[in-house]
Amino acid sequence: MTKKLTSPHVIKQIMDEHNLRFIKSLGQNFLIDENTLNKIINEANLVKTDRVLEIGAGLGTVTLQIAKKAAKIVAVEIDRHLIPALKSNVSHCGNVKIIHSDILKMDLKNLVKEEFPEGFKVVANLPYYITTPVIMKLLEEKLDISLMVYLVQKEVADRIMAFPGNKNYGALSVAVNYYAKPEIVSLVPKTVFMPRPKVDSAIVKLKVRETPPVSVIDETLFFKVVKFSFIYRRKTLRNALLRGLPELEREKVSEVFKNADIDENRRGETLNIEEFAKLCNCIKTCLTNKL
Ligand code: SAM
Repeated sequence: MTKKLTSPHVIKQIMDEHNLRFIKSLGQNFLIDENTLNKIINEANLVKTDRVLEIGAGLGTVTLQIAKKAAKIVAVEIDRHLIPALKSNVSHCGNVKIIHSDILKMDLKNLVKEEFPEGFKVVANLPYYITTPVIMKLLEEKLDISLMVYLVQKEVADRIMAFPGNKNYGALSVAVNYYAKPEIVSLVPKTVFMPRPKVDSAIVKLKVRETPPVSVIDETLFFKVVKFSFIYRRKTLRNALLRGLPELEREKVSEVFKNADIDENRRGETLNIEEFAKLCNCIKTCLTNKL
């Protein structure tokens, strides 16, 4: 029989039965609210042919609901102590594969080849300590993902959604927008978790783009330029680039900015994604011509 895993009483019972404790350092804040769970599942817009990767399955609260609607789910969980309880909670579904692993160490290209050759969606109540690296890994590997629905700290959701000039605007905002169209679909109070975290959360939906919104000659260079522009966000762009890109000759810097039609005294945090792309393409042309 399916257990009501959003019930704190049931969670406590399972934890006691399996002699488990919440491991704070693994971001173990389990979902105990049916309404939030339904929102996550609805936003994933699951149909019977969907294949889904879930990150951080915990006791299987989200896993069970995905399993009801999708064709297949691969649920990754790092904590080996949770695996027996997770298996016993979801084994009756018949379409859940549990992988005991660290998502950040997994060879995702290989996983996709074996489990999701026709593409997939990602759904997760993410462990807070690795939210950004997980989101970036899944985007940067350019896997065949159509949609991602994540429960994340509100602060991360704000950074993803931020525009130039906003205090939350940073490398994450530019990178996520390069790969996907992000949307905050709901704000979520800390009371929906057990144990309760210190901060509020949000459900974010990322619709993965087929092509980036800007044309970039060299993606590695683009992300390097973005990174350094924000690492040295108190400096002018000119000084940030001189620090971050030693391969760019000092005498050429003004010319690069002139070609990109961008004031070299601006700060990186004022540039939108189009301007970053333009600047980066001019840097690339300058570096290539030097060779
Ligand atoms: N999905 C469950 C829920 O909603 O109740 C649990 C979510 S809890 C916020 C995050 C889960 O991710 C925990 O079960 C934790 O053990 C797991 N986790 C933490 N780090 C992980 C990693 N690097 N790879 C895979 N799972 C991880």
